[in-house]
Amino acid sequence: MTSKHPETLALHAGWRRDSATNAVAVPIYQTTSFQFDSSEHAANLFGLKELGNIYTRIMNPTQDALEQRLAALEGGVAALGLASGQAASAFSVLNVAKAGDNIVSSTDLYGGTWNLFGNTLKDLGVETRFVDPTDPEAFARATDDRTRAYYAETLPNPKLIVFPIAEVAAIGRKFGIPLIMDNTAAPLLVRPFDHGAAVVVYSTTKYIGGHGTSIGGVVIDGGNFDWEAHPTRQPLLNSPDPSYHGAVWSQAVKPLGPIAYILKMRVTLLRDLGAAMAPFNAFLFLQGVETLALRMRAHSENALAVANFLASRKGVTRVIHPSRHTGVGAERTAKYLTKGMGGLCGFELAGGVEAGRKFIDSLKMVYHVANIGDARSLAIHPASTTHSQLSESEQAATGVTPGYVRLSVGIEHIDDILADLGQALDAAGA
Ligand code: PLP
Repeated sequence: MTSKHPETLALHAGWRRDSATNAVAVPIYQTTSFQFDSSEHAANLFGLKELGNIYTRIMNPTQDALEQRLAALEGGVAALGLASGQAASAFSVLNVAKAGDNIVSSTDLYGGTWNLFGNTLKDLGVETRFVDPTDPEAFARATDDRTRAYYAETLPNPKLIVFPIAEVAAIGRKFGIPLIMDNTAAPLLVRPFDHGAAVVVYSTTKYIGGHGTSIGGVVIDGGNFDWEAHPTRQPLLNSPDPSYHGAVWSQAVKPLGPIAYILKMRVTLLRDLGAAMAPFNAFLFLQGVETLALRMRAHSENALAVANFLASRKGVTRVIHPSRHTGVGAERTAKYLTKGMGGLCGFELAGGVEAGRKFIDSLKMVYHVANIGDARSLAIHPASTTHSQLSESEQAATGVTPGYVRLSVGIEHIDDILADLGQALDAAGA
């Protein structure tokens, strides 16, 4: 597929027809195992002399079509589908960092990623140094000899200030450190590889699927990072791997293309930890991806209209949307969000927690759920739900204030969205 256009790639990249039946839709290859042609074929597959299907924990043709399609859309070289976005985040780091190593991460993260880095990876001996993303140089200051990766979200909520991808990627490249970007909130709107990131992760649970039926994740390799040039900085890609007869990944994978990072992840972490994406879920994500470009356009248009509507309400004291920042936030929006500002929007009610709860309880069409990125509009009041275990000052540090409401604006008709929000604001005295 030679097109560069996401609308076309979303329908055609990675698949033409089924080689056995000529089926046009990607079949659900619901099988655990694949018959080998011969003992030589089997030995070649296990020895990575040739790539092919062995066992669905490691790879599967339905997953493969999705992986190729997402890699093409992102401008990367190869991808790995996983059971969830959490698995994707964990694998993206564990592929380069082991006990005694560290990563530097933006503080502005999804709560699940914060817990993964701050607790589970810490218990495994991988330290995360959290830094403020408003100052890119903070990444350089937190770096030492054992820093293996930088990590951030493109459009983190609740603040919705775009991460300085190019600035931090450039710092990392000086040290031989790859920037891993969680692009869950901004697929197609921002392509982190275009700005120098080396790895992209998604929770496909959100916009990639869009239907809210399936949990999944993906890691995409930009193929643009020279692992071999940094043997001391990146030992996991450059020293013999005892779990694969001493393979040195940056060397062994060379004949297959610049895919050392993602192939290593597939044949070691996925083999050992087993967080595989089910073929049926891969099929459902393929259905979602077909309309991703249309949906991201509609989400962006609707969320901008919602932000403008909210700003006109007297009981709304603050609207958080990429279009409404000033200073550095506005500069980042202008630099990175040229194709749309995404579907997320937050706002603050003058009436605090009580008004927030009342607003949520009064919604008739918009769903009250702990998710983002569905085609349907979704809302949540973090202070009484997702962030209720935190103290008020901790909540404030993460950008959650008592009257803050998060909206994931869907693709319904804008009049219906505004009507539902309007009547719920009325009920909340806003
Ligand atoms: N990254 C971001 C930005 C998210 O919002 C989420 C989930 O909300 C995840 C990662 C984790 O994804 P999953 O729920 O698919 O494990």
